[in-house]
Amino acid sequence: MGKVLIIGAGGVGTVVAHKVAQNPEVFTEIMIASRTKAKCDAVVKAIGNPNIQTAQVDADKVDELVALFESFRPEIVINVALPYQDLTIMEACLKTGVNYLDTANYEPKDVAHFEYSWQWAYKKRFEEAGLTAILGCGFDPGVSGVYTAYAAKHHFDEIQYLDIVDCNAGNHHKAFATNFNPEINIREITQNGRYYENGQWITTQPLEIHKPLTYPNIGPRESYLLYHEELESLVKNFPTIKRARFWMTFGQEYLTHLRVIQDIGMARIDEVDYNGVKIVPLQFLKAVLPNPQDLGKNYDGETSIGCRIRGLKDGKEHTYYIYNNCSHQAAYKETGMQGVSYTTGVPAMIGAMMFLKGIWKKPGVWNVEEFDPDPFMEQLNKQGLPWHEVMDGDLEL
Ligand code: NDP
Repeated sequence: MGKVLIIGAGGVGTVVAHKVAQNPEVFTEIMIASRTKAKCDAVVKAIGNPNIQTAQVDADKVDELVALFESFRPEIVINVALPYQDLTIMEACLKTGVNYLDTANYEPKDVAHFEYSWQWAYKKRFEEAGLTAILGCGFDPGVSGVYTAYAAKHHFDEIQYLDIVDCNAGNHHKAFATNFNPEINIREITQNGRYYENGQWITTQPLEIHKPLTYPNIGPRESYLLYHEELESLVKNFPTIKRARFWMTFGQEYLTHLRVIQDIGMARIDEVDYNGVKIVPLQFLKAVLPNPQDLGKNYDGETSIGCRIRGLKDGKEHTYYIYNNCSHQAAYKETGMQGVSYTTGVPAMIGAMMFLKGIWKKPGVWNVEEFDPDPFMEQLNKQGLPWHEVMDGDLEL
């Protein structure tokens, strides 16, 4: 059906490449490009399919991207580099007539702040070019939005309360490591918390609000209220929502390390002078922390991510919990990566598949919940992320 270009050969890029290669009837030609070509070549070797092409590209540079897109001529780019590259890749797509998909919204390098406004501003240009841009198509954001759209379509007339709950009950047996890019991860978690209630955004101190929540097959885990990007699009696209929150579990060890990292200035994102060289402490920290891509081998346990929803159907109040549990070891056996990369990479592949099949294809810039959730939900069950539902149970929230 179509040619796909994957940008980024990290944990998520590796999973996307595996999954794309598993669906040759949809993805007829594949290229993986990243800053370090050797990493792309290593992914291709691990997959064992010499037909996958590789290339070097600096995705911060629009002209390099344009040259690559013009030579390979993909129909869609799956951007699984870092959020800093979203806008340059979108620009290059517009210049060359290529469709776009990502898993994380744009963040400027020098401010730890993320919101959709920068990418939503491209809507008219994508519309006029007849190109589709699918934003936030990992697990959360991504499947969390598809689950919400599915609940709205099949189970509710009005969604009123939405809690996205993200538990990683796995153990990688390291004192401290992040499950995806440490720089992006630490920037996200050390920000103020924020949630939506009755038309307003309420800001909290970082990790100020927390409570134990019970996760299927896992049990109770302390869960912390964070701001997460899909809240912004979901309250816009489902205006009946009265309250929307996002919760993530953290262990005490992780939080203690995080506090120390902040207290000693290693989470700083401004430049400091070190022996005449300018370095950003958080980027330096990334260089010495375990690489998330290497965690898979010794990772046990599972993740559990879902949406807990309360609302009205036929005038009556109902609750609904939809979730997926993903085993780190099963993800590792299939792709060589742990569950967090897996749960992000599989939906990115499915989003691109939806586009190439013509199901999620409409000119403009869209969040995933603006498309039909049903064919995507069907693929989740087929591609390794099966979902489960609990009707009218206790949501604890
Ligand atoms: P990694 O750091 O493992 O990989 C990032 C990759 O992008 C690396 O191969 C890196 O190259 C490459 N890259 C970075 N900068 C550039 C550049 N300027 N030009 C070309 N390539 C570049 O990150 P992850 O795989 O863990 O995460 C990838 C994305 O997925 C991130 O945006 C993250 O926010 C998102 N994510 C989304 C989730 C969701 O559920 N929606 C959950 C988890 C992650 P090099 O190796 O040379 O540095």
